[in-house]
Amino acid sequence: MLDSLRHADQLARDWKINSEDILLIALNSCGARSSLGKPRMRFRLRLDSRPDQPLYLILSLGNRQSPFEVDQHQLRLNGVQVGTVEGIEDDDAVLGYWRGGRRVLTLNSNTRSQCTGCVFCPNTLEDASDPRLRAPDLHAYFSTLACESGLPDLGGVEAVTVCTGCFLYEDLALEHLRLVREAMSANDCNGTLQFLSSVLTTPQGLDAAAAIGPFHLTLTAECFTRRDLVLKESKARLTPPQMIATLAAAKDRGIATNFTYIVGMDDANASIEGLAAFVPVTTAFPGFQIYQAHTPLMELQRATGSDQIQWHLAMRTRIEELFADTGLRPAWFRNYRSLWCFTFAGQELEGPWI
Ligand code: SF4
Repeated sequence: MLDSLRHADQLARDWKINSEDILLIALNSCGARSSLGKPRMRFRLRLDSRPDQPLYLILSLGNRQSPFEVDQHQLRLNGVQVGTVEGIEDDDAVLGYWRGGRRVLTLNSNTRSQCTGCVFCPNTLEDASDPRLRAPDLHAYFSTLACESGLPDLGGVEAVTVCTGCFLYEDLALEHLRLVREAMSANDCNGTLQFLSSVLTTPQGLDAAAAIGPFHLTLTAECFTRRDLVLKESKARLTPPQMIATLAAAKDRGIATNFTYIVGMDDANASIEGLAAFVPVTTAFPGFQIYQAHTPLMELQRATGSDQIQWHLAMRTRIEELFADTGLRPAWFRNYRSLWCFTFAGQELEGPWI
């Protein structure tokens, strides 16, 4: 995938992409070796070439073939230090965490750790501390969070993201989302309520979601081919044309829309063809996540060629072309497994990166 910084610099010249983004793509695709004895870790990374810009990473540590190695202090590429590591911790499924400083609160309020079925999902490898939260718990959780974060209330929070695949039915999801909105309002938060899911699809459901207040639907598309083999059943049921119709219907109701997609499961042409049809129904940059194989079995599910860095760089360039005219751009703090960290189509991106 990537041999050395010299290799990254050569690729940077050939592809007109900054070498840090190339290094991070390779790192996210390969994961790292480690003696830390954990399947996944999250940490802050300062690349030696951009030491003033710490960024956040969540990394699989199960790949013994990876050219990258991480310990509590260093990231190395084939034995040579390329960055320093700070604040390394176990990536267990927690109840909630901040992104973008205190801009976005991500909530695993419905026991995401219990959800199984998608081949790329690390849930079953992680420890968990994300119990299902009901109304009084949510109120208390938000107040405690504000207090612990040194905030008078949650008034400055732009968005609360409910990130869980565990609602089997639309009405159960809506019931929970109403409770989250109530708890947000009780803590003076009028921000957007973002929901990552594949169960919110009907016209009535979308009407109800629009009525909850500023709403953002992130449809968990993940892939376009072999869906019955690699996704949990409730996700696999939804076909790409149904997803496009759902996002279009949401957009018509004033709901912000985008989707999540795993880069490295579909073949390149199937990816680009499928993604092109999603562009017109997307109002926020999608969450393109680089496929991380956490186990040898997951390695078998890779798209042909996606074990090569060039495959990812070509995908990055083709996706940039798809979104060039939309004005939508990625932000690292929203997605730590992105194909873009510091630049998009040759232009510098803005932070935050944590
Ligand atoms: S729906 Fe799939 S990706 Fe989401 S939490 Fe469940 S198993 Fe993981």
